[in-house]
Amino acid sequence: MLKASLRSHLTLWFAGLSLLTLLSVGFYVGDIATEQMKRASGNALLSTARSAATLLGEQLRERQLEVYLLSRAPHLERGDLDNPAILKSMQLRTEARSEYAWMGVTDAQGRVHQAVNGLLVGQVVQQRTWFQAGLRGEYTGDPHEAVLLAKLLPGLPNGEPLRFIDFAAPIRNADGQVIGVLGAHAHWSWVTHIVESAAMSHKGAEPDIEALIIDHDGKVLYPEALVGQQMPAKDQKSPGWVVGNGYLTSEVTVPTPTGTALSWSIAVRQPLDTALQPARLLFYKLLLLGVFAAVAFGLVAYYLALYLSRPIEHLARSAQKVQNNQPGAYFPLRHPVREIAQLGQSIDAMTQSLLAKERELQETNASLEATVAQRTAALTLANAELLNLATHDGLTGVYNRRRFDEKLTEYSLLFRRTGRPFALLLIDADHFKHINDTHGHAAGDDVLQQLAQLIQISIRSTDFVARYGGEEFAVLLPEIAKPDTPDIVAEKIRSAIAAATFPAVGPVTVSIGVGLADPADNAPTALLKRADQQLYQAKAAGRNRVACQTSLTEVAGLG
Ligand code: GH3
Ligand code: MG
Ligand code: MG
Repeated sequence: MLKASLRSHLTLWFAGLSLLTLLSVGFYVGDIATEQMKRASGNALLSTARSAATLLGEQLRERQLEVYLLSRAPHLERGDLDNPAILKSMQLRTEARSEYAWMGVTDAQGRVHQAVNGLLVGQVVQQRTWFQAGLRGEYTGDPHEAVLLAKLLPGLPNGEPLRFIDFAAPIRNADGQVIGVLGAHAHWSWVTHIVESAAMSHKGAEPDIEALIIDHDGKVLYPEALVGQQMPAKDQKSPGWVVGNGYLTSEVTVPTPTGTALSWSIAVRQPLDTALQPARLLFYKLLLLGVFAAVAFGLVAYYLALYLSRPIEHLARSAQKVQNNQPGAYFPLRHPVREIAQLGQSIDAMTQSLLAKERELQETNASLEATVAQRTAALTLANAELLNLATHDGLTGVYNRRRFDEKLTEYSLLFRRTGRPFALLLIDADHFKHINDTHGHAAGDDVLQQLAQLIQISIRSTDFVARYGGEEFAVLLPEIAKPDTPDIVAEKIRSAIAAATFPAVGPVTVSIGVGLADPADNAPTALLKRADQQLYQAKAAGRNRVACQTSLTEVAGLG
């Protein structure tokens, strides 16, 4: 999993939460505003529809009343349907009010007796709805296209068919018997104009509104373009408006003229888009504000995160340095956030103690190493001493018998392989028992030490000296070439000793037997034996002398 930094975690969370909060508030407020706008627009539409319906109701009632009053004229009551005063009255009415397209009087069989401008006089209108309804009582009818009058009246300028609404009232004689019908056609455009002008007066406050006239079945009568369309049913719960077909619609029933069955409504509607435009604008503004606020919060969060995370990042880096033994680890001890300051102090203290322990450990290690080195040196020295002790004679310091035996074997083997001869001198102090007896054992020891030194300085560094036992020394000579042939070397030793002064005991002499390695020897002891025989010879011949094998003298002579 990718591990994001503390900084990005904090920033994302802050910005995300603020965006979420602001969006929730935006949507919530937007929703409330939408409902408010709906209510406000709905109320405005309702009041517009109400005033249009009231106005239309009044106008219709007035026209109906006019027709009724004319139908109750005294001449008509008397049965005089052709009286010219009636025509006069009707003419006055129609001249005063341009909405009337036709007004006339029929008898009970539907024959027109009199009419304004003489239109339709003598024709029979028995089949017309207004006539049939007029026989029964006062009537105001739905709009319809002109039938008989279509040919007689000038058409509308826009070419649409002439449409009328009809008013009618029965003409009764004094006995109350119906003897005819007084009918009037008003231009439908008069009705629509009333509705339109009522609606228009509100258009300033509510743009895009549209006024509709609806019949008793909920079908549109006006405007022309929507005629016959079914309006959405009224919502019983809604307070005077309904939302449907993308419109907010308010519908109000037109007050019915007295005595008629007319049942119209005025619907005033406005596209929902228009009605809710302010709410949508508000919503967009809130949304924009939300985004801006989220960005601002994000920035603030980023800097806050920076402020909080920087010391922690620094601590992490420094801790890593401590872990990797790199220099430059530094822990800030001060920060306004208490926990961060505490963390810095704690890590600093821990690091200090860690480093102190490490130093201590290093020092301990160093002293341990010194001790080990010291001990090792002492041990090496002891080993060397031990080796020295194991191979050297304690009294004289020359090699001991054991080392001599090894050396002799080594030389014998080498001789057998390379054929290079070597010689052995056996040196024995003369009458040493006497020295001991005369001057004491300690003086004897001193003599032995001095003898060893005298032998050593008389030979080459490559030659080998050992104390063979008691007062006897052995010398191995690996080089037997001239001038230092074995007999010469032996003689050198003998004469050096004979010439030396021994402070405590006076003069001391030695006898020397010289033996030469022989290829026929099958063990080193053979050479020892030969040298010992020569020593015996030297003793026997009177001591303080050198005795050599004949072959050796030959070698010396040849060399
Ligand atoms: P010769 O001339 O025949 O060799 O006579 P010698 O007296 O030297 O021979 P011998 O073998 O009778 O005596 C050797 C003496 O050397 C006997 C012993 O007390 C003495 N001796 C052997 N080892 C030591 C020693 O380490 N220190 C002392 N002071 N005397 C020693
Ligand atoms: Mg001896
Ligand atoms: Mg001796």
